[in-house]
Amino acid sequence: MLKVRGLTKSFGSNAVLRGIDLDVPKGKVVALIGPSGSGKTTVLRCLNGLEMPDGGTVALGGNGTGELRLDFGGKVSRKEIFALRDRSAMVFQHYNLFPHMTVLQNVTEGPIKVQKRPRTQAVEEAERLLARVGLLEKKDAYPFELSGGQQQRVGIVRALALRPQLLLFDEPTSALDPELVGDVLGVIKELAEEGWTMVIVTHELGFARQMADEVIFMDDGVVVERGPASEVLRQPQQERTQQFLQRLL
Ligand code: ADP
Repeated sequence: MLKVRGLTKSFGSNAVLRGIDLDVPKGKVVALIGPSGSGKTTVLRCLNGLEMPDGGTVALGGNGTGELRLDFGGKVSRKEIFALRDRSAMVFQHYNLFPHMTVLQNVTEGPIKVQKRPRTQAVEEAERLLARVGLLEKKDAYPFELSGGQQQRVGIVRALALRPQLLLFDEPTSALDPELVGDVLGVIKELAEEGWTMVIVTHELGFARQMADEVIFMDDGVVVERGPASEVLRQPQQERTQQFLQRLL
C-alpha cells in the first residue's frame, strides 16, 4: 500500500530525514518509535503533504493504475501533493480541530469542501462514524465543550470520513490525561482489526507491541532497526535501540 524510498528532508542546515525507507502492506500497522527530535513527525508530515521532502519517492495505493507515485527528486506539482493528502489522513497529537466549528462540521468539512461529496451523504457518514465512537450526541457541540479523549475521537472520525487509504497517527494519546488514553487506544485497535493500513508514531510501547506488525526505531533521521514488534521491543539488536528502550523502562 505504501512504499517510501530514500526520503530526505532538511530544515536549513539541519538534515532531519537522511534517507528513510518504509513499506506498509495493505491492512498492516507500522509503529515508529525513537527519541524526541529523531524525525518521526516529519516522516508523517511528508506522507501527508504537510512538508515537502527534498528527495526520495513515495508510492501509495499499490501497483498498477491506481498507484500514486511522487518523486521528490524531480518536480512535484501541487496537484500531486493534493492527491497525496487526499489518500492519507492524519490524526494529530493536539487534535487540531477547528475551534469555531461544531463536531459535525469538523468531520464533514473535508468531505464536502475538499472532496466535493454531496452534503447529505457526508453528514450521514459522519453521524454513523460518530455513533461508532460513542459521540453522536455531541455532534452539535464545539471542541472546547469536549474532553481531550472525546476531541481525539473526533479527530479520528474526521480522518476516517476522508476515506483515506492510509491513516497516520502522530502520538495520538500523548496529550491526554492517563485515564482518557485507553478509550482512544481502543478505537485505534478496532481500526487495526478492521484492516486499516496505518503508521503510528507512539511512545506507548505496550500498545506498539500489541498492535504493530512492524516496529521501526528511528534516531537522528535514519532507521536504526526494524522488525516484528516482538523482536525489536524485546530483543533489540542495535545498541542505540537498547539504550532508548532501557531509558523508557
Ligand atoms: P520527532 O517527531 O521524532 O520528535 P520531529 O520530526 O518533530 O521529531 O523533528 C525532527 C527535527 O526537525 C527536530 O530537530 C526539529 O526541531 C526539526 N523540525 C521539525 N519541524 C521543523 C520546522 N518546521 N522547521 C524547522 N525545524 C523543524
